[in-house]
Amino acid sequence: MLDKIRIVLVNTSHTGNIGSAARAMKTMGLSSLYLVDPISEPDGKSSALAAGAGDVLANAKIVSTLQEAVADCGLVVGTTMRTRGNAWSTLEPRECGQKLVKEVANYPVALVFGRENNGLNNEELHQCHFNVAIPANPEYSSLNLAAAVQTFCYEIRVAFLQQDGYQPENSQNDDSEYPLTGDLERFYVHLEETLNNTGFIVPNHPGMVMQKLRRLFNRARPESLELNILRGILSSIDKKMLDKK
Ligand code: SAH
Repeated sequence: MLDKIRIVLVNTSHTGNIGSAARAMKTMGLSSLYLVDPISEPDGKSSALAAGAGDVLANAKIVSTLQEAVADCGLVVGTTMRTRGNAWSTLEPRECGQKLVKEVANYPVALVFGRENNGLNNEELHQCHFNVAIPANPEYSSLNLAAAVQTFCYEIRVAFLQQDGYQPENSQNDDSEYPLTGDLERFYVHLEETLNNTGFIVPNHPGMVMQKLRRLFNRARPESLELNILRGILSSIDKKMLDKK
């Protein structure tokens, strides 16, 4: 089950950090590592710092976009030095561990880490349902990437050890409560198309509408059934627009 909790590193520049992250994961029982467009691919330095976690490193998946790394996940949490105002729903590290461990019973889940020099950008954080910060020293709150991975993996381990009588939540029911990220992305594409057709979004001046709507829906976190309703609403608008033409 811990192997379905995915650690995603975005645009990592130091190969040593990739190895240290792999080691941090294995010590806590995690094994699924995704590298999104690493500046350099794992090398000898990574292997040296991975030490006994060479298997985690060897099995790391390299993908080119964050979207690719999380498309099949039902819960995506972004880690950041500072949680950002009202725009995102936030979790505490402990809650984050508990939530990942609880929901991984239903689908793969992901915890996303940013670049050493400037973290995750807003667009990437908009692809996450929640963001989470380690409440570090406000005067210097930037942990080394692998140290941050270690801290969160420890919280995941504590949550994992604390759950007793573990039972997958929906062992009899295939419908997951929440849609996968890929389904949500298809909804955003549909929404944008429909809003272009109605003229609400002016194609040459799209402004920030889609970003704001993504923020709204990520915060609300629609369930699968609710997403179907939203898709149905869009289809009904599409149909009326076609009838009018
Ligand atoms: N100077 C960068 C710091 C990046 S540190 C910045 O401006 O954001 C590299 C990564 O480690 C971050 O993107 C985040 O994923 C993780 N990290 C570092 N400190 C953290 C903290 N206090 N809480 C949560 N994650 C942290």
